[in-house]
Amino acid sequence: MQPNKLLKPGLYSAASHDQAGAIVRLKGGRCRCGYVFFPMQTYGCERCGSHGDALTPCELSAKGTLLAEATVHLHADKNRPAPFTIVKVALDDGPVIRTLLAEDSAPVAPGQRVSGRLAAIGQNESGETVLDLRFSIAS
Ligand SMILES: [Zn+2]
Repeated sequence: MQPNKLLKPGLYSAASHDQAGAIVRLKGGRCRCGYVFFPMQTYGCERCGSHGDALTPCELSAKGTLLAEATVHLHADKNRPAPFTIVKVALDDGPVIRTLLAEDSAPVAPGQRVSGRLAAIGQNESGETVLDLRFSIAS
């Protein structure tokens, strides 16, 4: 079996495994004022303006509550097959992110609990299975 490759390793990592598959950890950051953000950056805190060493990397759980969803039926990029569903998720650790709903997910509605996992989205030239973050209803 070919190894798996993460599409965006700067944004998330596969922490460990359980029965449902790889547990995803998001690569966020925390300011010394307590503000938590995603993704990790050192340019500045949105709350207090501190930057550089005041901001340190931290792992965030890929669990949260759905705030909104929208399905794209026609995309300007012909290489981006539609339909796909964009979801806005309030992570339990604080940040609000916009991400993609898993293709095999049941329909979602605001207020539902959702969680992220690594889903196979295709293969690269080396034959590796490429994994990317997708959210679906929390089991
Ligand atoms: Zn701050």
